[in-house]
Amino acid sequence: MKVSDYIKNSDKTIFSFEIIPPLKGAGINAICEGIDPLMEFKPPFINVTYHREEYQYKKMKNGLLKKISVRKRPGTVGISAAIMNRYNVDAIPHMICGGFTKEETESALIDLKFLGVDNVLALRGDPIKTEDVFIPNSNGNEFALDLINQISDMNEGRYLHDETKNASSNFCIGVAGYPEKHFEAMNLTTDLQNLKKKVAAGADFIVTQMFYDNSKYFEFVDKCRSIGIKVPIIPGLKPITTLKHISFLPKFFHLDFPEELSTELLKCKTDSDVKQVGLEWGIKQSQELVKNNVPVLHYYTMGKGIAVKNIVKEIF
Ligand code: FAD
Repeated sequence: MKVSDYIKNSDKTIFSFEIIPPLKGAGINAICEGIDPLMEFKPPFINVTYHREEYQYKKMKNGLLKKISVRKRPGTVGISAAIMNRYNVDAIPHMICGGFTKEETESALIDLKFLGVDNVLALRGDPIKTEDVFIPNSNGNEFALDLINQISDMNEGRYLHDETKNASSNFCIGVAGYPEKHFEAMNLTTDLQNLKKKVAAGADFIVTQMFYDNSKYFEFVDKCRSIGIKVPIIPGLKPITTLKHISFLPKFFHLDFPEELSTELLKCKTDSDVKQVGLEWGIKQSQELVKNNVPVLHYYTMGKGIAVKNIVKEIF
């Protein structure tokens, strides 16, 4: 079922979460360990993130360096199918532009259609570690907007290099939104205009980057509505659980901790102190969002299903 229909048919806030595929070589149990603790809260859908290849340099016998492409985590098609089969929920594979030609993207979408996947999250992807800026594949999609256009074309039966009209897909398309601005955007206004283009091209819902200050989400929603973005805007939340998160999360995800939170985090000496502050903050944030009738509370587990569970059991 489509995320837009789940939201339309629900009179209360829905719980959902995303998982990261386990490292290459791990089995289905590694996926279940992250999902099982959260199933009692009945998520109707689970997102599966996509992780593109990385490049490494390997020294050869002749002393020269050889550039090799290493994919550390499997793609999303197989894992989405496994989740749907095992848990009888909808899986939402994340699809990115980076590393794919449009033809490869089309093949993946065709596979997803056969598997009965109704939703995809269409993203550009970040620059790879060895590059400063995002470089699209030659004949790949450059922006999430281009990927949405490709999916929307398929939804109307238009496939690549094919003049005839084919059986259309019917994907419900999600996109990313950034309450604190995407790090490359000139300002929030231009970023919102680009978000509006994604919605005009066919996006049915928006999932936000994680944030720790609910007022930033509420302001973001107000600004979206004021420029005519009408689709549901799903808040993304991530529990803070380690001392490392205190510097990593703001740096990597380009977000600010509100002062009330940073004051408490500065008092922490151990991971377990941080976990307690993160738990209390996560509960408080979630409660306020539910009170304000957000359509879904979407949690980034990042392999920490238990930390999410400890918050969610106070909410759902
Ligand atoms: P876009 O919407 O293409 O925007 C990228 C930048 O370009 C923005 O600054 C935007 O303002 C600008 N822009 C957009 N359109 C145009 C245009 N037409 N002309 C000029 N500028 C434009 N990454 C992964 O690799 N795998 C994942 O699974 C993943 N999941 C995510 C889930 C969520 C909910 C979020 C919020 C992010 C996720 N990301 C993931 C990270 C995401 O790929 C990065 O943030 C990436 O840098 C931008 O992706 P986007 O889809 O927002 O890009």
